Amino acid sequence: MSSISKQIGHFVKSFTLFELLKGLSVTGRYLFKRKITVQYPEEKTPMSPRFRGLHALRRYANGEERCIACKLCEAVCPALAITIDSEEREDGTRRTTRYDIDLFKCIYCGFCEEACPVDSIVETHIFEYHFEERGTQIMTKDMLLEIGDKYEAEIAANKQADAPYR
Ligand code: SF4
Ligand code: SF4
Repeated sequence: MSSISKQIGHFVKSFTLFELLKGLSVTGRYLFKRKITVQYPEEKTPMSPRFRGLHALRRYANGEERCIACKLCEAVCPALAITIDSEEREDGTRRTTRYDIDLFKCIYCGFCEEACPVDSIVETHIFEYHFEERGTQIMTKDMLLEIGDKYEAEIAANKQADAPYR
């Protein structure tokens, strides 16, 4: 095509707003189609039972802490995000006196959960959280137990759903 006919074609397209109409036709085609955009945060996408979010420490039904301070989670953590201190109780059992997780170090690999012999440390479905001050990213034992207490029903259900895949 010669350059003159190219220029004429370009002029006609500009004059008739051909490109604009072409774009609008695409918009029109999708206007009444089923919408696939998720209106977060009102709508949420389905989540796997294996999703790894904020951590929690669990208790048994009688209120006793599951954690026996074996420190396997601390040893397996590739990010060195877990810090545990422990002591023996009067009844001879061992429990943690300190259980911290630094969420800035954590890479949410789930190894701590995999390593725990008593299903104590788990990763919940909670992913909406933030920190506003330096130091608040350290999850203490009390904070982790509180999350565990609050979401125990959901955690137990997810463990059940995930069981066939372990
Ligand atoms: S999820 Fe992984 S990185 Fe985070 S605390 Fe557990 S083992 Fe460490
Ligand atoms: S959370 Fe589990 S793996 Fe970690 S110290 Fe406690 S019992 Fe051991």
